[in-house]
Amino acid sequence: MSSDLVIVYHRQPYEEVEVDGKIEYRANKSPNGIVPTLKSFFGKVDNGAWVAWKEAEDTSDPGFERVVHIEDTFGKYTVSRLPLTAAQVKSFYHVTSKEAFWPILHGFKEKYNYDPVDWPTFKEVNWAFAEAAASEAAEGASVWVHDYNLWLVPGYLRQMRPDVRISFYHHTPFPAADMFNVLPWRGEIIDSLLCCDVVGFHIPRYASNFVSCVRSLRDVGNVPRIKVENDMMSEGSALSDRTVPTEIHTDDRVVQLGVTPVGVDVEYIKSLAASEKTDTLAARFREEIGDSRVLLSVGRTDYTKGGADQLLAFERLLERRPDLRGVVRLLHVSVPANRNMTVYEPIQKELEEIAGRINGRFGTFTFQPVALISRAIPFEELVAWYQVADVAWITPLADGMNLVCKEYVAARKDGDGVLVLSEFAGAAVEMGAAVLANPFSSRAMDFAIDMALDMPEDERKARMELLRASVEKRDTQHWAEDQLALLSPKDFGDASQS
Ligand code: UDP
Repeated sequence: MSSDLVIVYHRQPYEEVEVDGKIEYRANKSPNGIVPTLKSFFGKVDNGAWVAWKEAEDTSDPGFERVVHIEDTFGKYTVSRLPLTAAQVKSFYHVTSKEAFWPILHGFKEKYNYDPVDWPTFKEVNWAFAEAAASEAAEGASVWVHDYNLWLVPGYLRQMRPDVRISFYHHTPFPAADMFNVLPWRGEIIDSLLCCDVVGFHIPRYASNFVSCVRSLRDVGNVPRIKVENDMMSEGSALSDRTVPTEIHTDDRVVQLGVTPVGVDVEYIKSLAASEKTDTLAARFREEIGDSRVLLSVGRTDYTKGGADQLLAFERLLERRPDLRGVVRLLHVSVPANRNMTVYEPIQKELEEIAGRINGRFGTFTFQPVALISRAIPFEELVAWYQVADVAWITPLADGMNLVCKEYVAARKDGDGVLVLSEFAGAAVEMGAAVLANPFSSRAMDFAIDMALDMPEDERKARMELLRASVEKRDTQHWAEDQLALLSPKDFGDASQS
């Protein structure tokens, strides 16, 4: 019971590597950019704590280290690892979170799979996270819980520790009531979230949707709203809202609603983009590409990312415009999910099938129009690809935010390049200067990709300048400062000093 700030996030904030028979803890190589930002908060407190899980078949094993003490460039903190069995991880994470919650969060009712859900296990795991957080938190500490797989933690923690300040951040979309209420546990989830002091979202629409869910289930009276800042209201985005709710009054407390889109570390990406290593890589890629024009698509192999629709749009492009055959190429990076998630296997098959067909129809011995990369590319390499791609084609069917589109903009030190962005990515509300496309319409996708490929240089550069301004304005530092203000922890410094 000693930490002023406890971060509860299901993943560990580092990777464990065995070196000469000894375990070493190294900074995450994971593609998710949020972990370093979260760790930067530990620079503000003397004793930070992180709660995560670690798979352990036999928890009585003396080799299992429950608490690890870390001291890295971010500060000193402890990591409390909950030992979960493989069966618990599968049930709580791979089944309940990914097969029941994930499709509903993203608006795919038809993918919702209730049957294999073991709700008591989900509750048990969330209870264990809450207990670990409760035992780490000092009197009046701030406990910051992340993402939907820990939805029940706030309610349990409030019972255990009425004194702590609880903040919850959603890294995904939050759906409207007619979608969310498909979940039979809707009341339990909403009641838990209403035990928070702050509930955070990326964009105003998700906060409004949350309010609609709360109101459908509980009587909370009037919810005040304020006007949304102009630069968070792109006219072309289906997710834009003009007003945003600010707080919900329950019988016990005022729940503040925080809305701040997660950004990217612009300075870091710029420094990578300026490095000699990236320059060399980018020069090599350019040489390999020759005179071709490159469309780049990057995302996980997930039905929400719209990969198959993109490949079909690319096939139509080559059918519609013979002038582009042998000229334009698509680099489609699709990172497969963890091998335990069989739910994504059909998508991988579909991508391979369409990509194979396109190459069969339009390829030659020396020219393959689609390069389908089914593995993660190291971030440094990705930054080099960002620099050489004529178009970044990011058209998810639903996406809480989407960082790839922001990274593309941050990496374009030449101020050129075109971003084609789905209007159903949270990022679209800030990035109205992109070519916004509706991925549910073939005609809209065709129009957007034509526009991107035919765009004159002066328009490309003017749009990129506007995009850069918005990406620079709402970078990770901006997000961190905003979150810190919402956490209002005791004795915290200024986030910008990290
Ligand atoms: N990423 C990567 N290598 C890859 C593909 C993706 O490093 O081969 C990174 C990418 O740079 C980005 C993250 O993975 O930081 C994906 O984040 P995003 O918000 O776009 O999507 P998410 O996977 O969180 O839904």
